Amino acid sequence: MTVGLDDALKHHFGYESFRPLQREICERTLAGEDVLALLPTGGGKSLCYQLPAMLESGLTLVISPLIALMKDQVDNLSANGIASTFLNSSLTADEAASRMARLERGEYRLLYVAPERLALGGFLVRLARWNVQRIAVDEAHCVSEWGHDFRPDYRRIAVLREHFPDVPMLALTATATDRVRADIEQFLALRKPHRFVGSFNRPNLRYSVFEKHDAWKQILAWCTTRATESGIIYTQSRASAEDLAERLSANGIPALPYHAGLDPRRRSKNQELFIRDEIRVICATIAFGMGIDKPNVRYVVHYDLPKNVEGYYQETGRAGRDGLASDCALFFSGGDAAKQRHFIRQISDLDEREQADALLRKMLDFAGTPFCRRSFLLRYFGETYGADTCSNCDNCLSPPDRVDGTLGAQKFLSCVYRIRAHSGFSTGMNHVVDVLLGTTTEKVLERGHDALSTFGIGTEYTKAEWLALGGELLRRGYVEQEAEHRTLLLTPEGLRALKEQLPVEFVKPRAVARGKKAGKGKAAANIASQDTDLFEALRRLRKGIADEQGVPPYVVFSDATLREMTIHKPTSQTAFRAISGVGDTKLERYGQAFVAEILRVVSVNV
Ligand code: ADP
Ligand code: ZN
Repeated sequence: MTVGLDDALKHHFGYESFRPLQREICERTLAGEDVLALLPTGGGKSLCYQLPAMLESGLTLVISPLIALMKDQVDNLSANGIASTFLNSSLTADEAASRMARLERGEYRLLYVAPERLALGGFLVRLARWNVQRIAVDEAHCVSEWGHDFRPDYRRIAVLREHFPDVPMLALTATATDRVRADIEQFLALRKPHRFVGSFNRPNLRYSVFEKHDAWKQILAWCTTRATESGIIYTQSRASAEDLAERLSANGIPALPYHAGLDPRRRSKNQELFIRDEIRVICATIAFGMGIDKPNVRYVVHYDLPKNVEGYYQETGRAGRDGLASDCALFFSGGDAAKQRHFIRQISDLDEREQADALLRKMLDFAGTPFCRRSFLLRYFGETYGADTCSNCDNCLSPPDRVDGTLGAQKFLSCVYRIRAHSGFSTGMNHVVDVLLGTTTEKVLERGHDALSTFGIGTEYTKAEWLALGGELLRRGYVEQEAEHRTLLLTPEGLRALKEQLPVEFVKPRAVARGKKAGKGKAAANIASQDTDLFEALRRLRKGIADEQGVPPYVVFSDATLREMTIHKPTSQTAFRAISGVGDTKLERYGQAFVAEILRVVSVNV
């Protein structure tokens, strides 16, 4: 049986090896047991039911929450020559009838439906005739109110247990706390489920945090150095999503916005253009994400501070599903932290407010940590990371310069204090820094702040360093920013820190230009520069085929597969089949075209 699995994996999907736990999950479900599989995004959950479906006769019923995704999944399977279909409200009556007729004849291996369908009259009766061998429940956390996208209809799935008592069930999700997990087992009525919990580490993702000082310039530089890559930029507000998309487009980087305020047609249009590689960047609020299966998202940027670590992890998780090196960058400023604190203070319910505050504080700890960011994230989710350094986060790649800022903090805090004592009003952070540096700006002179005892006492740091120290003081809550004018106020804790000379450390600011592209791991073997022509040529070929067939490019071949072709340059059908991602159907359909293109480009380049 084990040998059979490997051969089937190559034959149907073109993969050389299983990702962690995929094999074990397939084996258990093939043995007829119930399984609960917790794998991170990009862990390869779909394969855990798609491969078993090919090893047995009969139908695998897949419950999936998103109608929009079903078509992509089915296209993907068809590209591998696997007969599958979906039934949902997007189909005409004729189309649905013809699919049901084929289901009656047992022509499909997989059927995708949303849970709502289980309530439709007659569906269960029909289903009983279709020789259901296995039930896979995708995004199983939707059954739980504790999860982040509860769907009441998921509770209906339990009726399948009554109608199909002997059919094994396989529940899959990327998010599950203990409470959610218990809910999944209870509400899906799983029988003695085998639980598989994968590591939530995503080794191909590189985490970095950048001090945000000139946000637009920084983001433009970031996107420009990655001009041919796909990326998601998360912003807090709809307005800044729109604004960024417009400005990026104006600067030659095709980008579109996505947020809940756009009308649904425009929203799905923008998403579609992104998935089909027609645009490079999507500027989005957190409304964007669930249902994005695009595997070649090369970076996720957080332009504003996320509210909590969970959200951050989910959103960054959309990068690099294909296993290739990808970047997760957080642009952070102390001002953003203050802004969020301000919002939290408006929450009237005390419990809720305290909870939001605790979550934010964790997020700030992540942004401010001088240690490995990956182990921080894993620890947050209750996992330990075996090593001290991961070699793939900013802090591990270039350990930050931590400096003792105790004296600087004293100067800063007393400067804030003195400005207010002298003028009766507060000023913004830049002005405080000007005073410390002894810069005679118009405002400094006008307000007479050159006469303060703190004027010019801070020449030991550069402006950027003072801003970083100020950010640290904001993060610790020693100063806070008034919402409207962003002026700085000393807090009671700040006053205490000043009196007791509490120690303060801060991290010397990083320049964003140092944000080199992620590149690590076997899959990511960076292609040599002379090979970029070939890679681009293969991308164009792929896009042409995809457009002709009306599917997203990754359905034809993933970026990971194109990259392998670029490195190994297969010039025969046998060599082409050895590429990961080339199964027998794709070999037959695309082998000649791709090999011909490789031969053409290689001969031009010699
Ligand atoms: P998940 O649903 O867990 O986020 P997917 O099922 O969408 O993950 O798989 C993510 C990507 O990984 C897809 O592009 C898929 O084709 C690819 N993949 C899955 N299993 C393997 C494997 N064993 N080897 C290589 N690539 C794989
Ligand atoms: Zn690290």
